[in-house]
Amino acid sequence: MCEMTDPVVVGLTEDEKILKETVRRFAEQEIAPRAREMDAKDVFPREVMSGLGKLGLLGITVPEEYGGAGAGIRAQAIVVEELARVSAAVTSSYAAHSNLVLDNLNRHAGPSIKEKYFPALCTGEAIGCLAITEPGAGSDAISMRCTARRDGDAYILNGTKIFITNGPVADVIVVYAKTEPKLGSKGISTFVVEKDFPGFSVGRKIAKMGHRGSPFGELIFQDCRVPAENLVGEENSMVRMVLQGLHRERIIWSSEAVGIAQGAYAIARKYVVEREQFGRVLADFQMVQEKLVDMALDINLGRLLVRRCAVMADMGMNAEVALEASYAKLFTGEMAERVTSKGLHMLGGYGYTQEFQIERYFRDAKAMPIGAGTSEIQRLIIARKLLE
Ligand SMILES: Cc1cc2nc3c(=O)[nH]c(=O)nc-3n(C[C@H](O)[C@H](O)[C@H](O)COP(=O)(O)OP(=O)(O)OC[C@H]3O[C@@H](n4cnc5c(N)ncnc54)[C@H](O)[C@@H]3O)c2cc1C
Repeated sequence: MCEMTDPVVVGLTEDEKILKETVRRFAEQEIAPRAREMDAKDVFPREVMSGLGKLGLLGITVPEEYGGAGAGIRAQAIVVEELARVSAAVTSSYAAHSNLVLDNLNRHAGPSIKEKYFPALCTGEAIGCLAITEPGAGSDAISMRCTARRDGDAYILNGTKIFITNGPVADVIVVYAKTEPKLGSKGISTFVVEKDFPGFSVGRKIAKMGHRGSPFGELIFQDCRVPAENLVGEENSMVRMVLQGLHRERIIWSSEAVGIAQGAYAIARKYVVEREQFGRVLADFQMVQEKLVDMALDINLGRLLVRRCAVMADMGMNAEVALEASYAKLFTGEMAERVTSKGLHMLGGYGYTQEFQIERYFRDAKAMPIGAGTSEIQRLIIARKLLE
């Protein structure tokens, strides 16, 4: 694989370089051989998650005392990019589990929740998901209608969540609900729900065009009884968990977009140096070179934006990261679409077939400007800031 657009190895610590090599080896040996089948059959690789657990990658941002590796978002972004070069499906399931659930709970839950749930989540024995989106509340997530009502030593949850990555297979569900609907965003609370709690059920598993193999679907809470000790933090105070979680999720989602683009670039580059037309390899033609250059430049710029945000997040610059994560998410989401589209085109008719798998990267890239807040929402956030 060409190293031309590979991380800016400059600036990576020794530990980060080892991490990157370790994840790349695992991705190429354990994930790449099954990526095509996962996509074709839409099957979830639970054993791959256990493998990631054995490498200590699931709880990468969780402190060691709870079974994690005690690293930061920089490290998690490296893991995600390396996984996404090979399989966006594994990456999405990893990111939902490791970033949306473990990283979020690590920042907002108390010791009892961490002691109870983190060990199994860090090994991959239990799978996690985070549920915010509802059929009627996507971009406007704060308008969620799922409710939680206190009843003695429990809360009773009612509502439906949709498009939840890992939802159909999750053992531990982190869910947002309104405990005080009339307070709007100030009435949101967070709960940890186990799949066996009465009143919880999995609805439809939803088939999608990309990220196939990462299960995704509907979750139903019908008078679901959740013990009061599974309330995360304080009642009515979790809009900050929603917002801070979204900023960190956007960094990780952006790194996934960079990885998808890098994977497609590698396929296209290999093809154009081998394929001959008009008696020369395609890479000899300047119009082909131009595409390759534009792709490499796009990937490099995306990676720099991700790295900048991740460093800021690890430095605790939370206020600044909100805006920077939107820039990164906006750029990398659209960049992944551009790069995978150009890459597919460079393979001509073969690109349009399933033989070289570049069409899988093209389908996977399509989700990148949608999930974790669409491009329009990132533009709204940035415009608001610019006009402040
Ligand atoms: C692969 C994938 C994985 C996901 N995983 C999860 C998960 O694990 N957990 C979870 O909770 N959710 C998840 N989601 C849901 C995701 O967060 C939502 O799909 C996303 O926030 C958009 O919401 P929506 O689909 O309801 O679209 P809508 O909000 O209905 O938007 C539809 C269109 O209208 C545009 N639009 C909306 N409002 C405005 C506006 N004010 N100005 C201009 N345009 C606007 C949008 O940009 C979009 O193009 C996932 C989605 C995908 C695709």
